[in-house]
Amino acid sequence: MKNASLIAIDGPVASGKSVVGLNLARRLSYRFLDTGLMYRALTMVVLDTNVNPEDHERVVELAKKRVIEVVFGDDGDALVQVEGHDITSQLSDVEIDRTVSLVAQVAGTREILVEQQRRVAREGPIVMAGRDIGTVVLPNAPIKVFLTASSTERAQRRHLEFQRNGRDITYNQVLRDIEERDRLDSGRRIAPLRPAPDAHITITDHIGIEEVVEGILKLMGGS
Ligand code: C5P
Repeated sequence: MKNASLIAIDGPVASGKSVVGLNLARRLSYRFLDTGLMYRALTMVVLDTNVNPEDHERVVELAKKRVIEVVFGDDGDALVQVEGHDITSQLSDVEIDRTVSLVAQVAGTREILVEQQRRVAREGPIVMAGRDIGTVVLPNAPIKVFLTASSTERAQRRHLEFQRNGRDITYNQVLRDIEERDRLDSGRRIAPLRPAPDAHITITDHIGIEEVVEGILKLMGGS
């Protein structure tokens, strides 16, 4: 098997990154970090302190002041802490969903979070998911995968997830929110969402999680 202790998985909202990344990490006994959680944690702090997400200077000030940390449980899953408090379960809030792409555009906050992500990667084998892992965070990762799917398929998945969690939101609203987030994430000047030139692109509309995981294991030269 190829010596791939770093696996980068990128892609847009609801392309399957997290579930594929988590399953793959379990199969390989690697740690798994969904870097979106870190941008979400900072967004939660921005919202809680009533800072305007478009006020870049104040957002960077918060990113420097309020320590966001990633810790790994025994199962290898990442938990995100703000000043020692685990806030991982609070990060799928709809307000965070709608604001996170604005916070993620701020160059100074990306510098801080990317540095932390690289530090985490140096600590041992990891599957890391996000938008810029293959292009910016870990450009030397030997395995890079870019997952994508149509916006309608992704909106259906996300809507189903919201319904399961009892959240009252229409499919059309979910689709609009996803398209807006795609627009901001792909159009930003710094670290825009795009596949690395050496990424393996997988369209997940019609394939299941297990099949995608098996495909990545094959890229590694064994399963
Ligand atoms: O993956 P998730 O939807 O949780 O990511 C939330 C947001 O965080 C993304 O829409 C994007 O704006 C930002 N993000 C990013 N770079 C990453 C991971 C997430 O800009 N590596």
